[in-house]
Amino acid sequence: MSPAEETAKLLASLGVRTEGSLVSQSPIDGAAIGSVAEATNGEVEQACLVAAEAFVQWRTVPAPRRGELIRLLGEELRNAKESLARLVTLEAGKIVQEGLGEVQEMIDICDYAVGLSRQLYGLTIASERADHRMMEQWHPLGVVGVITAFNFPVAVWAWNAALAVVCGNPVIWKPSEKTPLVAAAVMALAKRALDRFGHAPQGLLQCLQGGREVGEALVDDTRVALVSATGSTAMGRVVGPRVAQRFGRSLLELGGNNAMIVGPSADLKLAERAVLFSAAGTAGQRCTTLRRLIVHESIADEFVARLKTLFAGIRVGDPREETTLVGPLIDEAAFRAMNEAMDGKAERIEVEGDGYYVRPAIVEVDAQRGMVLKETFAPILYVLRYWELDEAIALNNGVVQGLSSSIFTNDLREAERFLSAAGSDCGIANVNIGPSGAEIGGAFGGEKETGGGRESGSDSWRAYMRRATNTINYGTELPLAQGIKFDVAP
Ligand code: NAD
Repeated sequence: MSPAEETAKLLASLGVRTEGSLVSQSPIDGAAIGSVAEATNGEVEQACLVAAEAFVQWRTVPAPRRGELIRLLGEELRNAKESLARLVTLEAGKIVQEGLGEVQEMIDICDYAVGLSRQLYGLTIASERADHRMMEQWHPLGVVGVITAFNFPVAVWAWNAALAVVCGNPVIWKPSEKTPLVAAAVMALAKRALDRFGHAPQGLLQCLQGGREVGEALVDDTRVALVSATGSTAMGRVVGPRVAQRFGRSLLELGGNNAMIVGPSADLKLAERAVLFSAAGTAGQRCTTLRRLIVHESIADEFVARLKTLFAGIRVGDPREETTLVGPLIDEAAFRAMNEAMDGKAERIEVEGDGYYVRPAIVEVDAQRGMVLKETFAPILYVLRYWELDEAIALNNGVVQGLSSSIFTNDLREAERFLSAAGSDCGIANVNIGPSGAEIGGAFGGEKETGGGRESGSDSWRAYMRRATNTINYGTELPLAQGIKFDVAP
């Protein structure tokens, strides 16, 4: 069945009917697979208005009740897992395993958020004054705008929406213009959950389809308290200052240029599996994709030779086939970027129609400069060599991005040094695990030009709430802080 026929069937089974000027093409064969209507400026305005009204109601619903809506959403996602994953494969080109993994991540974050809805806790703090109590409360923040990238076309919405909703906030989603159909499918599932929940305010979960202009209208609307934006550093460079200009909050999840150090004591069998998945998986189109391999000179020849053999055996092809490990790049522009980065040496493989399929590449370089410093969103693995660990850590940190990093070593001192304050400067630092494929329980995000935002687990929920410090006097005196005397003489 062609991607277009299969998409039409899946969308119908999920009750999604769409049509409009924004056409979606499958990266599998480049053919159009459906279309959606783009939001006008008036519709963005209306969505923000309705969401702001929804906030007034939703913020007073007890958090565990809010969690019930996310529990229902998780159920809908479980029931539709196979269909939604297949749509991710058809529209974003992910292989079957990764499509399923993406939807599983949505289910996991729903489960996590349901538990969290009973644990939105604040501190009690010792007061310096007698008969006083000081505490922190976390209140709902307001409308949350979520802008997402094509490469995690649905999971990133879920990371944000599940937490934002239990924290008491309405969500307006601006999905990638390259993956509008999966977004429409997710909204259909969200509607089922909302219908079953029964009494959520209108406009709690909305979606505005379109490109950069729609995103910018959302970014500029003062009713949007938090803009959570995932995408390229170029996008963040525009969005961050625009939101700051109006004193809004932003949570930025931008590009990465992730490295793995392989030390002389490393278990090379583990390391090669990690490189395979981290560098070639998702056709190099993950923010956490391994782009720089920093190998100890003493093992470099052997290790790189093993990797080259492994990469030559990767099955590149139609992502719908179970044996495929690497599917297509998202579009022609992605192929052009890869080919330019490789001085015209990217190896294109003919698979189907106008799909852009490439063989993941290993490029040995003698210094970290030029394209090695950039995030080319394609499967190119640069290999660098080192003698001293400090040199390797300096290479790991010597780029403007700061998302993910890892070290393969069986030497405790090396591992701990890498994780220490003088080690990796990234938001994610792993030992004997590749830089890619994080779990939702930890806080996810990176430093420097990756934007500094944190999503998903740990205390990331705090980004979706506002903090109030409360001091309560239950005594009969009114002592001032710092012992200040301020009385009118009798
Ligand atoms: P992109 O920056 O082209 O687009 C991302 C989203 O931003 C899209 O929805 C787009 O319409 C919107 N957008 C673009 N310019 C905008 C503007 N000026 N105002 C408002 N919205 C705007 O990115 P992409 O090609 O879809 O995704 C790939 C990039 O995303 C890579 O750089 C990757 O590293 C990054 N990414 C980061 C993370 C993370 O968590 N750090 C996760 C996934 C992807």
